[in-house]
Amino acid sequence: MFTEPSNIAQKSGWIEVVCGSMFSGKTEELIRRLKRAKIAHQQVGIFKPLLDNRYHQNNIVSHNETTISASAVANAKSILELADAFGVIGIDEAQFFDEDILHVVEKLANMGKRVIVAGLDMDYAGKPFGPMPKLLSIANFVTKLHAVCMQCGGAASYSFRISNNTDQVVIGEKDHYEARCRSCFHA
Ligand code: ADP
Ligand code: MG
Ligand code: ZN
Repeated sequence: MFTEPSNIAQKSGWIEVVCGSMFSGKTEELIRRLKRAKIAHQQVGIFKPLLDNRYHQNNIVSHNETTISASAVANAKSILELADAFGVIGIDEAQFFDEDILHVVEKLANMGKRVIVAGLDMDYAGKPFGPMPKLLSIANFVTKLHAVCMQCGGAASYSFRISNNTDQVVIGEKDHYEARCRSCFHA
């Protein structure tokens, strides 16, 4: 389990990235970290891309139904405009943001904020997803989670699309995707 760094100079912010396949627990982990920050009486700002409207627009909800309120924003730059009051910034579904997200999270961390980013590292084809590879590079802390493979029960790193659509972005849940390990993904 990730423990908040305590030996970092207070002046300095940092970037944490939580990645993995669908159902790997990214949102749950993001919510866990953010709730702890709230318990510590820190000001927490939480953002997600506007296009991800699977659940309530102003909440982030995990597949386990843990939830926390969030602002849906049209683009990465909006986060910067809304972030002033917060010492801790949470961002979910970061793979859907434009490349500006890189500059935005750097800037927030340089302002002294703790930035926690969750997102899919790979798309349904097993290819790096949007800005995630670069976010992983600039992160100070990286956590890669695994789901349970729905074919064999092994550790799943891939989001296998059950439907036939070949667009990179198809918003959906268990109706469109299942978590799979490497061998079941390629089978
Ligand atoms: P993510 O944000 O990575 O898609 P969530 O945090 O929303 O994942 O959901 C994680 C939860 O999903 C787990 O705690 C579990 O209850 C549920 N779940 C459903 N299918 C799976 C699976 N194949 N492997 C692991 N967890 C699953
Ligand atoms: Mg999620
Ligand atoms: Zn498998």
